[in-house]
Amino acid sequence: MKNKTIIITGAPGALTGIGRATAAIVVAGFLSISMAGPISALAGAPLHSDQAPGYYRVKIGDLEVTSLYDGTGRFDTNWLSGTKAVMADIGSTLQKHPHFLDVADWGFLVNTGKRLILVDAGAGEWWGGGEFGRVEANLHRAGYTPEQVDLVLITHMHSDHIGGLSTRDGKRVFPNADVYVAKAENDFWLSPEIATKAPKEAQEFFQAAQAISAPYVKAGKWHTFSGSVEIAEGIKTVPLSGHTPGHTGYEFRSKGQKILFWGDIIHAASVQFKHAEVSVVFDIDRAAAVATRENLLPVLAEEDILIAGPHLPFPGLGRLQRDGNAYSWAPVVFTDQWTSK
Ligand SMILES: [Zn+2]
Repeated sequence: MKNKTIIITGAPGALTGIGRATAAIVVAGFLSISMAGPISALAGAPLHSDQAPGYYRVKIGDLEVTSLYDGTGRFDTNWLSGTKAVMADIGSTLQKHPHFLDVADWGFLVNTGKRLILVDAGAGEWWGGGEFGRVEANLHRAGYTPEQVDLVLITHMHSDHIGGLSTRDGKRVFPNADVYVAKAENDFWLSPEIATKAPKEAQEFFQAAQAISAPYVKAGKWHTFSGSVEIAEGIKTVPLSGHTPGHTGYEFRSKGQKILFWGDIIHAASVQFKHAEVSVVFDIDRAAAVATRENLLPVLAEEDILIAGPHLPFPGLGRLQRDGNAYSWAPVVFTDQWTSK
């Protein structure tokens, strides 16, 4: 194509003899293909309706981290709140690019060699109208069983993060797991007083949080912690309140490498990396959620740290780069090479 362009733009004099000959062959070939019409079909190969399995692994030091796909949805513009100018910009971008606000949901599994830890459990049967809830199936595909999970760390108690813990009929999906959540989160969502005072549209979140946690509470498997603590060997809790009162990230370290499971620091990647000041309707304290995001992003952009984001595009794992006043997301690049390096 390069040679052809040179001839058409009238610069053949600059070509060597060989270059001219090659260009002529390329143009001739191009013309003859054009004149021949469509290539005739050789065989009617059937389309495939299946997909690659919904998990992806990376190694962080000695840790095997597996993203478990839960589902895909579209973030509603009405769930975002920003300045008039930013919202108008989002509206017009969405008209041109209807997939601009597509988002995913992920849970994450960490095998430390000693423990099998789930960080967030996806939506299960509790959110997304059937479009979500694949974490358990993908955990099986990734070679594990729910019975093997012995610890679950919850970033916050919204249904798209804890729904996968329990079935609608009150059974624990992870019967051998102890579940940990920040005390502030637990005390907010499980308080009957706060629930009754909450706006009508928030009621379903309270009811779901109570129903999902109940079987673990009953079994003595539901635990809380406060602030920044070493919750297990090499795992630190990182308080990131705002989106919800006890919203918490989990930082895992191994052999000098780090990964942060940051919960809902970002919902709509295409908007909030550029405009960290844009909040979402699900933020319990919008100002605090924005402040937490604005404080965290510059720190992470300076660090060599992998980020696991439940609502980020495949595979929910990547790194942050600073881009002036905005940030850009660099997802891990797919590789089929699994090494223990
Ligand atoms: Zn969420």
